[in-house]
Amino acid sequence: MVTMKTDNASDVQCLHGIPVLGQDFANVSMLRLDRSGGPAPGNKAFKLQAVLAEAAAEGVGRVLSFGGAWSNHLHALAACGAQLGMETVGFVRGGEQDTAMLADARRWGMRVVALTRSDYRRRQQPAFQQSLVATHGPGLLVPEGGATVAGVRGCRAIAQRINSAGGHWDRVVVAVGTGTTLAGLAVGLDTNTRLVGISALKNAHDLEQRVGASLASAGLHAQVPWQILHDHHCGGFARVDRRLRNFILAVEAARDLQLEPVYTGKALLAVHDRLASSDWRGDERILVIHTGGLQGRRGYPWLAED
Ligand SMILES: *Cc1c(COP(=O)(O)O)cnc(C)c1O
Repeated sequence: MVTMKTDNASDVQCLHGIPVLGQDFANVSMLRLDRSGGPAPGNKAFKLQAVLAEAAAEGVGRVLSFGGAWSNHLHALAACGAQLGMETVGFVRGGEQDTAMLADARRWGMRVVALTRSDYRRRQQPAFQQSLVATHGPGLLVPEGGATVAGVRGCRAIAQRINSAGGHWDRVVVAVGTGTTLAGLAVGLDTNTRLVGISALKNAHDLEQRVGASLASAGLHAQVPWQILHDHHCGGFARVDRRLRNFILAVEAARDLQLEPVYTGKALLAVHDRLASSDWRGDERILVIHTGGLQGRRGYPWLAED
């Protein structure tokens, strides 16, 4: 099994401190998933553990998936696969292939296969998938980003951590890529709270429908009201504007905390901005989930390396 730290209470950190761009975050706490998850800290290990456990139970020894050259998903798949003694194959979108992320993945034994951009666009076509499995398999083909029903089930464990840590949260805030993590939280949270997803993508207005469809296809039901906010993308997926950059550097200078610009920096900046605009009241109890991804900092030279 993928090992995970289980001492929940120490994973929740209050963010109260000297103000960052005018906010002292007195009412905000953070679930530090970046500190747990074994070889793949953050939400990706939760998504993958159920997928890989099901594969292992069926005697499947090889898992294949898709991602970009900076994909946290492929990085985690390589790490978790190595730990479980499974073979992994990563189909990477054309372009740069010698990133720090893929170097880690190769070191952990992932076979990295470059696809041209036009082939990569066919990644959801069954006939193309069959040809990839015929050439590089046999094995289980996992969709890009680990967006599967098993992934939703795996992310329920994040909600269980929040439930068992106790405390009341008016809002639970999480960054959204595919929405798989948000879906697992919606199903697993047992408290009287609202779940807010911060989309890391620009204009991904089909996300709500995709989350709803994945819950329905799994016969799962949201236990809390949830919504996705689409106006905190800072220019688009993996894009960074000056405000986001300044915010991340200011947070890191003032708190015992690292962020990355793709997901967690945008999620916390969204909390900052909603509090600053009084959209969210300053006496609400807010829990932001730090979903990890810190290995991706190496793609941003302006972030101090350590
Ligand atoms: C992948 C990822 C997310 C988004 O998770 P989804 O389940 O795809 O919505 C959020 N934060 C980090 C750090 C990630 O790597």
